[in-house]
Amino acid sequence: MKKSVLFILSVDTEEEWDWSGPFPNDNFSINNVNEIPAFQAFCQELGIKPTYFVDYAVANNKKSAQILKNLNQDYCEIGAHLHPWANPPFFNDTTEVSSHVVNLPIENVEKKLNSLLSKISEELHCQAKSFRTGRWGINGEILKLLHHKGIDVDSSIYPLYLTKHFSCEKAPDSPYWPDYNDTNSQGSQKNILEIPVTVSFNRSFNFLCQKLHKLFERRPFSWLRINGILWHTRLLRKLYLSPELCSGKEMKMLIDSQLSKDKTVFHMYLHSSSLFENITGLSFHDNAREHICRQIKIAVQHLEKKTNVTFCTISQAKEILTNNKHH
Ligand SMILES: [Zn+2]
Repeated sequence: MKKSVLFILSVDTEEEWDWSGPFPNDNFSINNVNEIPAFQAFCQELGIKPTYFVDYAVANNKKSAQILKNLNQDYCEIGAHLHPWANPPFFNDTTEVSSHVVNLPIENVEKKLNSLLSKISEELHCQAKSFRTGRWGINGEILKLLHHKGIDVDSSIYPLYLTKHFSCEKAPDSPYWPDYNDTNSQGSQKNILEIPVTVSFNRSFNFLCQKLHKLFERRPFSWLRINGILWHTRLLRKLYLSPELCSGKEMKMLIDSQLSKDKTVFHMYLHSSSLFENITGLSFHDNAREHICRQIKIAVQHLEKKTNVTFCTISQAKEILTNNKHH
């Protein structure tokens, strides 16, 4: 009998910009949002119900707000996405440190979150119930704040990822109730559920793989090549359920590996800017949207062949996971 699984697709819906440059505060270009109606139609055809984590710059633009408002809300969800540098009120110039939500004083996060949520409700006529930080990372203080604002699902955990400012290295790669004192661990609170995106090694024992991977990364060039060799021989690959970082074929590999580990929640993610051609950064294909859609289709059809898939938005996934003992 086929296993039952959930499939979520989340899209950081935000301005396009040069990630190698400074952090701009205004004059955002959001032409990529024009690609969303066609992307949504593609998703609906496959049965996918995307969750759009919308940031302030997108909600604040009349044209892009209108595009999102026109989407059929039965087939998608609007969540909130906080880019500190693009979201008033502004306190200081944004630096690398203050571009991470986890580094801001909680009073400042609250003011920014208030303006983001009210902008979304004014312009898109909906209450966001789900959230992701810009540049990932979360802590207990922010989770409590989100809960007070009516948000009950977070997706700021990026498994196996670590920066100077936070680490998701030991975080689970399946949904869990994060402990307010250590958001990488399961706690006892039931206010806000964490649904991480799907990132994993194609082997069991993620922590051992991560150790090995990092060891080979740190050594001189000859050692660095070992990760390349491991990749090509398929012995050890860090795989992302994201059409930006992995091909359809690689995502199929990740799906098989997660199924062999008995995982039942598949959370794919991308940035809306990847749907737009000729932007700096992630995608170099002539028709970026078509390329992204092709990879998604390969992965989703593979998952459907192997399992019984329930397609859901992130809040629907939360409902299913918390009401249904099966998952
Ligand atoms: Zn973002």
